[in-house]
Amino acid sequence: LDHQFKQALPIIDKIKEAGFEAYFVGGSVRDTLLKKTINDVDIATSAKPDEIKLIFQKTIDVGIEHGTVMVLWKDETYEITTFRTESTYQDFRRPDNVEFVRSLKEDLKRRDFTINALAMDRDGKIIDYFDGQNDLENKIIKAVGIPEERFFEDALRMMRGVRFVSQLDFDMDSETELAIQKNHSLLEKIAVERIQVEFIKLLLGSGRKKALALFIRTNLFRYCPGLKLHKKELEELAKLDCVIENRIIAWTLLIHHLNIPTEEAELFLREWKCSKKEINLVKSALFALRHRLKNNFNRQVLYQVGLQIALDVETMMECLGRSVDFESIHSIYEELPIYSKKEIKINGNDLKEVLNRKPGKWLGDLMIEIEMAILVGDILNEKQAIFDWVSLYYEEKD
Ligand code: ATP
Ligand code: MG
Repeated sequence: LDHQFKQALPIIDKIKEAGFEAYFVGGSVRDTLLKKTINDVDIATSAKPDEIKLIFQKTIDVGIEHGTVMVLWKDETYEITTFRTESTYQDFRRPDNVEFVRSLKEDLKRRDFTINALAMDRDGKIIDYFDGQNDLENKIIKAVGIPEERFFEDALRMMRGVRFVSQLDFDMDSETELAIQKNHSLLEKIAVERIQVEFIKLLLGSGRKKALALFIRTNLFRYCPGLKLHKKELEELAKLDCVIENRIIAWTLLIHHLNIPTEEAELFLREWKCSKKEINLVKSALFALRHRLKNNFNRQVLYQVGLQIALDVETMMECLGRSVDFESIHSIYEELPIYSKKEIKINGNDLKEVLNRKPGKWLGDLMIEIEMAILVGDILNEKQAIFDWVSLYYEEKD
């Protein structure tokens, strides 16, 4: 047993002592069988949420209506979910109402794919009602039960399936693929935020090539924001031979491949419900990438976008098959005279006084000129040097 499972054993044992069943389930069981590092262990139990809350001192109701209670145990948190079925489905989304059941098998039956429908008991014995271990060995993503029915219950599962193809570098079972192809338009019912989570994991996965081809082949892409009219461009993106390292690179490469103008990137990302912060980072990265495709990095661009984005851009250049120079990015960056406006040795007030002028638009403009002059090395970042430069500047203008 992995140490994360071992750490959680007292929890399973306490639930069992109280007379209920408890198992490890879901992604952690799958990942441990794949010998991958596991994130968090999920526990499923026959005990109802109220019963769990009686067993443990410290609990938090995180999703009690879905049967999930969070237990705090030795500085760790564990999600404990009551065995349940999802009997009433509305509108092709996961239901609000769940029905608690006492059997593990019923619980595993409602899970999406066979490799995610495995359970493991406290001694490490695997419980596998749907041939999930076989599919793990053969590297197959296969719906539990009749695929079409499962996608009718919850259309997000179609995206999850393609995401696992990428993340695990698996293939998709042909019947499962066919059911997605047939029902791809159900994706329309799903909130963009949830689609986004899966789409990004798809782009970041090591099997991205295969998964993107599947995403295109099944027509799922038609129901994703801003992708509908871009089949050809997505196919081009699928040809890239590199692992995408982070979300910023993923969005930037995507937008670049879709030939979306830099000014329109924000709209695209807003449709995908990205955060304001992420949108700003991607806009910077896109600007820098498109600069870099034509020129080398210079002080101004590095100053503007910062080191991290510049390095991400260089990684993208590598991905695009262009020659790269990480070294010079580091050395240009290290030699920048300033890294932000705040480091400039004078401020607006100083300027107003020295020039004896009322504040106005001129002041902001002048500050930008000073900032740029310091950056390219025309002035030293010292009070006197800046004053001298400003006086000269005004003499010339008058
Ligand atoms: P990850 O490594 O990305 O966390 P995961 O398999 O743990 O992968 P989660 O979204 O954390 O995925 O879900 C945990 C488990 O809950 C899954 O393994 C699966 O058994 C079940 N599950 C999650 N979402 C769905 C869904 N939409 N339909 C059916 N079962 C689901
Ligand atoms: Mg998980």
